[in-house]
Amino acid sequence: MNAHPNAPQERIPVAVLGATGAVGQTFVRLLEGHPWFRLAEVAGSARSAGRRYADAARWIEGAMPAEAADLTVCASEPARVAAPIVFSALDSAVAGEIEPAFARAGRAVLSNAKNFRMEPDVPLVIPEVNAPHLALLAAQRLRRGWTGAIVTNPNCAATVAALALAPLHEAFGVRRAFVVTMQAVSGAGYPGVASLDILGNVIPLIEGEEPKIEREMQKLLGRLAHGAVEPAPFAVSAHANRVAVEHGHTVCISVEFAQRPGVAEALAALRAWTGCDAVRGLPSAPPRALRVADEPDRPQPRRDVREGRGMTVSVGRVREDPLLHLKFVAMGHNTVRGAAGGSLLNAELLVASGALAP
Ligand code: NAP
Repeated sequence: MNAHPNAPQERIPVAVLGATGAVGQTFVRLLEGHPWFRLAEVAGSARSAGRRYADAARWIEGAMPAEAADLTVCASEPARVAAPIVFSALDSAVAGEIEPAFARAGRAVLSNAKNFRMEPDVPLVIPEVNAPHLALLAAQRLRRGWTGAIVTNPNCAATVAALALAPLHEAFGVRRAFVVTMQAVSGAGYPGVASLDILGNVIPLIEGEEPKIEREMQKLLGRLAHGAVEPAPFAVSAHANRVAVEHGHTVCISVEFAQRPGVAEALAALRAWTGCDAVRGLPSAPPRALRVADEPDRPQPRRDVREGRGMTVSVGRVREDPLLHLKFVAMGHNTVRGAAGGSLLNAELLVASGALAP
């Protein structure tokens, strides 16, 4: 049953590129029984192409959905994939070539890779935060001469931080933010970090991560004006660390605002925030994108990562900051809200808003 007025009449066939990896598997899991989309094709590299999905993917979590197990993995080429909507969980080393090839072939590509996020004509979207940014697709189609589209979702740690900062930026104007992350091992893909490197350890480097966190948030929280995004005028400094947690990126944030709020005002803004109206009724939208955890020692990945089926970011420990104005902790599921779930929500927004077709 589907309450949304713009729900498709029939489930739309979709494909997952990079379906064998950590994010690809999360797509396959979240697409099981999806009311709008039907997993029709899975694609991978030459290593996997031609093999049964159940044999090619070393399945990480729970039971593999039956609808996926017997699919044959195809090559990641538009000629081999028929679906009009393509979810990309491709390694960034290959996404730069493969994703535009699909967009040129008229497909809507929902990308998790870093390659196109900061291109001025490519929407970087968290639907609750900046659904109107999908309007960039008009400029993208005009400039690139394709009928397809590339829509990206942000880096997983930037997603958690941006969702937590969005209500505060709207209410008080962020001037600068200092961000320290503790990121789960599933964020490194599969097989990812060697166990002897991470067990009982903290690795204070995630290659390339800090610049993504420092740049993507301004675009996400930026304003759409005259067909382009004006980045939000604040600076971010990020430290990214890998920790021995399975799922859930924890982000500690200190913020200075244009108008300094008290703790109670900030909490009220966080609690009241519901995000863009366009999200309401979409199948993957959680009841609340943001939840304030009242317990003094929360959020914690173990206890809070499944909130809203992994789509809710939890915020807690909002307090005065002696250096800037306020500090707090945010935590969210990196492969769900920070990757496949966020991408599915973007696709639902694309369908519901009529932006799928040029
Ligand atoms: P992963 O586990 O290493 O999976 C990479 C996938 O890319 C595999 O399915 C692999 O297919 C495919 N691939 C590699 N080379 C290919 C080629 N030449 N042609 C076609 N396919 C190829 O990585 P991941 O963690 O799932 O990440 C996927 C993407 O999402 C990356 O761009 C990553 O930065 C981004 N991302 C990840 C997270 C996270 O929390 N993990 C969050 C946000 C964004 P085969 O197995 O067939 O070789």
